[in-house]
Amino acid sequence: MIEWASRRWIACLLLGTALQFFASSDSILAQAVDKKVDVVLRNGQVVTVDDDFSVAEAVAIDEGRILAVGKNETINRHIGSGTRVLDLHGKMVLPGLIETHCHAIGVGNSALEQPYVELKTISDVQAWIRKRADEVPKGRWLRVPRTDITRLVERRHPTPAELDAATTTHPVIFNAARKNVLNSLGFELVGVKNDPQTAPPELEGRVRRDKSGKPVMIIGGDSYLRKFATAREYSEEETLSALRRVHRRYNEVGITSIFERASNREGVDVYRKLRDADELTVRTTLTIRQQFRSGDAVGPFSESLGLKTGDGDDWVRIGPLKITVDGGIHWGNTYLREEYGDKRVAFYALDDPQYRGDISYSTALLKDVFSAGHQLGWQMCCHVTGDAGVDRVLEALAAVDRETPINDRRFTMTHAYFPAIDSIERARGLGVCVDTQPYLYLKDAEAMAEVYGTEWAERFIGLGDWVAGGIPLAINSDHMIGLDPDHAMNSFNPFLMMWIAVARRTDQGNIYGERQRLSREDALRCVTRHAAYLSFDEDRKGSLEAGKLADLVIIDRDYLTCSEEEIRQIRPLATMVDGEFVYTAEEWSLSN
Ligand SMILES: [Zn+2]
Repeated sequence: MIEWASRRWIACLLLGTALQFFASSDSILAQAVDKKVDVVLRNGQVVTVDDDFSVAEAVAIDEGRILAVGKNETINRHIGSGTRVLDLHGKMVLPGLIETHCHAIGVGNSALEQPYVELKTISDVQAWIRKRADEVPKGRWLRVPRTDITRLVERRHPTPAELDAATTTHPVIFNAARKNVLNSLGFELVGVKNDPQTAPPELEGRVRRDKSGKPVMIIGGDSYLRKFATAREYSEEETLSALRRVHRRYNEVGITSIFERASNREGVDVYRKLRDADELTVRTTLTIRQQFRSGDAVGPFSESLGLKTGDGDDWVRIGPLKITVDGGIHWGNTYLREEYGDKRVAFYALDDPQYRGDISYSTALLKDVFSAGHQLGWQMCCHVTGDAGVDRVLEALAAVDRETPINDRRFTMTHAYFPAIDSIERARGLGVCVDTQPYLYLKDAEAMAEVYGTEWAERFIGLGDWVAGGIPLAINSDHMIGLDPDHAMNSFNPFLMMWIAVARRTDQGNIYGERQRLSREDALRCVTRHAAYLSFDEDRKGSLEAGKLADLVIIDRDYLTCSEEEIRQIRPLATMVDGEFVYTAEEWSLSN
């Protein structure tokens, strides 16, 4: 109990602080009114993405932050002799785009290995093998760049004979849906012979054979096969310079912040190194990925890591702790409410039509892990793709919530491909956020329609359902291989992504689930404001407002009124991070 006298003292203290605060904020305001700044952008359309989605003409930037946004005449008063003034010539400015799901370190390292090429047909696969066989010495293993059967026109794995037709001088591995097809030389070298009795004992996987006993594919066995087709080791300098290159590609498409969505201590150190050397051109939030066998394992892991959500600064920050709950639609193990049935089983080369997918956690274990993470101060997030996987996550979260409310923890489900109306309602009640990948709709929805059925395609990447249900939704790429913004695995061009969100057309031009289309405003919110919300950064970024970080992108056409088709053609003219231009297109540098 506090004495009356001391209570009065506390009251005085509080009043004094409040008065001081008003006095100082007043003078800040007075200063701000005609403060001369580093940079002024004017005569443009500045899409602020503020509460009213207002569009201004000009923006004043000082010391890496936005000082003011408004009409040309109000911003002009911030122009001093040292101010760099840029005429936008009517061009549009958007808040810097936030890529909430990528694997940039992996992208960089895989680019050191071999260039990624998007392969659409089995004859593309063969052509790639032939070309690569010409480039590398005979006998060297060739690993076909990741190609999912959902994205192959044939909707199936190639046969060993098809791989043999491309080369017999090099062993080849084609991996999709967690199954490996090798050419004849490849099967021979890994010890999988035509005689079923001679399979190598170390092979942790099953060999599927044709009627004559010849091997057709190895189901699983990835770690065994990796011993043959080894990836090379990278020096730290190689990793750092490859990563800088990836970040530059991001800047070129307007990205100013990213979430590394599956990182670890080494990943954090790599980013800190770049930051300390002043070489970062994107801000990064690192998601730490780990699997747990018990809730008790979270504490020791967290302690050994020595990090938790929110640690760091505006350049490198620790995001959530992520676990992987189920499989995926490419691997053929997304955890569904219904049985896979004959069609899906045949497509993924599975055996049991009653199979429903893989799930790594019981509800009780999920509850223990989420609860332990939250108590340690982590924001939690999980990879979950199937609708039944989502059910289990929400059930566990509801159990955690009954003990300690989790509404403000912004638990994030990543992927959640097939929203169901009942799970959207439960998610909203628990304050759950979602991040998901429109590019998968473009590339995989036709396979979903064929193999899962049209209703599944209509729910697939159900952006409209999430938004209508009031869920904070971020859209992103899950970029993992390749440096071409439009043809990477997966495309990281945010304008292509926003086009998919708005148009909802597959690469065949079909629309499954008209109701899932987003307005242009909502699509933009999903890569700006909502994205910032996911990492508790809404006061720092995601909109162009006074006090926020000066991260923005100037684009070559009007996102809000251009034809729908043109959205995917939008190109950044310049990208600014922390008040500095990190990318400038040639046509822009000529006009300014
Ligand atoms: Zn990912």
